[in-house]
Amino acid sequence: MLSVEEAQGRILDMFQPLEPERKPLLEALGQVLTEDVVSTLDIPPLANSSMDGYAVQYGAIEGANHDNPKTLRVIGYLAAGQLPKQAVVSGTTVRIMTGAPIPPGADTVVPFEETDEYERKALGKGPQEITEIRIMADISRGSNVRPRGQDVQKGRMVLNKGTLLRPSEIGVLASLGLDTVNVVRRPVVAVIATGDELMEPGQAVSPGKIYNSNSYSVAAAILRYGGVPRFLGIAGDNLESMNAKLEEGLTADMLLTSAGVSKGDYDIVKDLLASRGEIAFWSVRMRPAKPLAFGVFPGPEGKKVPHIGLPGNPVSALVAFEEMVRPAILKMLGHNELEKPTVRAVLEDDILNGDGRRVYARAIVTHIGGRYYARLTGDQGSGILTSMALANGLAICPEDIPRMRAGEEVDVQMLDWPEQGMALHP
Ligand code: AMP
Ligand code: MG
Repeated sequence: MLSVEEAQGRILDMFQPLEPERKPLLEALGQVLTEDVVSTLDIPPLANSSMDGYAVQYGAIEGANHDNPKTLRVIGYLAAGQLPKQAVVSGTTVRIMTGAPIPPGADTVVPFEETDEYERKALGKGPQEITEIRIMADISRGSNVRPRGQDVQKGRMVLNKGTLLRPSEIGVLASLGLDTVNVVRRPVVAVIATGDELMEPGQAVSPGKIYNSNSYSVAAAILRYGGVPRFLGIAGDNLESMNAKLEEGLTADMLLTSAGVSKGDYDIVKDLLASRGEIAFWSVRMRPAKPLAFGVFPGPEGKKVPHIGLPGNPVSALVAFEEMVRPAILKMLGHNELEKPTVRAVLEDDILNGDGRRVYARAIVTHIGGRYYARLTGDQGSGILTSMALANGLAICPEDIPRMRAGEEVDVQMLDWPEQGMALHP
């Protein structure tokens, strides 16, 4: 049996970051930069005020206080977006709004709160009718002035190639005036369910049939981690039907099938792969999701299309996705961090490990009094998808430990943490 790490390693070896594409800024959220971004601007472009107040020469207000205010003549009015018309000299001031450029001569902005602005307004004066103002406090020189280039200086490297674009990076790019950006494109992942027993949701169920849930959970996981699912429906348990679906899957960057990888009579994914691709069938030392197929199909133009054959049981399919497919998607997206976020938690139930595999137990993680606690979601059968729906983490019992007991500490991979695999509809 292969270890989880060996299986992950062999799969990851088959994937590389995809080529760049140019995208409108907002659509690039969650994608990775393929170029260094150097600023062609100073931000802010001019020294400006960080408060609504009065632009002054510090020397003119030094020592001011309530009992000894300094009176200045108001010579102008500046709003954000305007350019100064007059210089401030000793004894004068310009009334200035947040974001407006500091007029020549001024070095300090006194906020309204430190003046008699409000008393004057209370007497019915409009803002433009205030012709003199009293400064009631000595604030320090340079207060409330944001220097030119305080955030970004022209010529500076602002974002490095390889940066994941989050809302803040999208904002930084916009502040530089960019409306498009070069990023690693998103991988297209084809999804084929296999099984004669399957029907698509939305139809009345026939006797003996079940609904195809794997295609939906798997396609949702592809979306969540930033890929583009290509939904190819259901193939029956026969080669003809499989071959037809496969044709449509070979223009994708990766092909996923579910079911047909165990040892039953109709488990024909393996026959298909043996006839058309290079394939390895693995038993991975994990529970659930022991049976896994991994291979490569020859695609169009000499391309090789990696295939992962997920197990059919709904929980196994999702756990195999988290451990084997998710890292491959993130690698294609150009991410560096491929591990799932993990916490140490106190177990509240025992985890049994009868046959030396790594157990991924569905768990509900809570955070109480600074510690994490993990309790299991109930029956851990690999067909019980509702117990996966209850879980927000996978508690991991190592291969060589036959039983973990309540009260011990356990590693839990978090399923629902905001992660680097930030998904957005492409
Ligand atoms: P198999 O690997 O074909 O033996 O399937 C294992 C189990 O998973 C069987 O109980 C199947 O009915 C079930 N199964 C297979 N494919 C799906 C699917 N797409 N949705 C839900 N259950 C499935
Ligand atoms: Mg089957």
